[in-house]
Amino acid sequence: MRKDDCIFCKIVERKIPSAKVYEDDDVLAFLDISQTTEGHTLVVPKEHYDNFLSTPKEVMHKVMDVAQRIGQAEIMVLGAKGINILSNVNKEAGQSVFHFHVHVIPRYDRKGGFTLEMKENPKAKDLSLPALADEIKKAL
Ligand code: 5GP
Ligand code: ZN
Repeated sequence: MRKDDCIFCKIVERKIPSAKVYEDDDVLAFLDISQTTEGHTLVVPKEHYDNFLSTPKEVMHKVMDVAQRIGQAEIMVLGAKGINILSNVNKEAGQSVFHFHVHVIPRYDRKGGFTLEMKENPKAKDLSLPALADEIKKAL
């Protein structure tokens, strides 16, 4: 199903142009308009799912397979030294387009516009990691 007000559904339906990197029956990959780093690519299922958490497993596998291949290609042909694979879920995590997508962001020696910092939580030493792990485990 497509969503009328979804920009990525419009890209899938070719109502909005995009620089396509890959396409098959289920998956489309195209360059992110921001080009945070050169080659920044988005991989999306052609069907509309809101985000990573609501996407069926078989669709997820196809999207991740394409993301892996694009990462490998970017290392090979763009001279990228590394890749960040990222999917934002909900606005609190930075999601701005609510059609599941995986960012494939090539990283070079030169600084691009992408930064990701995982700072140590100053409260980490006060947390019980086994209790926290158990809480998550219960919900699986
Ligand atoms: P999010 O913030 O949801 O994780 O990522 C959405 C991404 O979609 C952003 O990086 C943004 O640059 C990209 N984007 C938004 N609109 C368009 C568009 O019309 N065309 C393309 N190619 N990328 C878009
Ligand atoms: Zn959509």
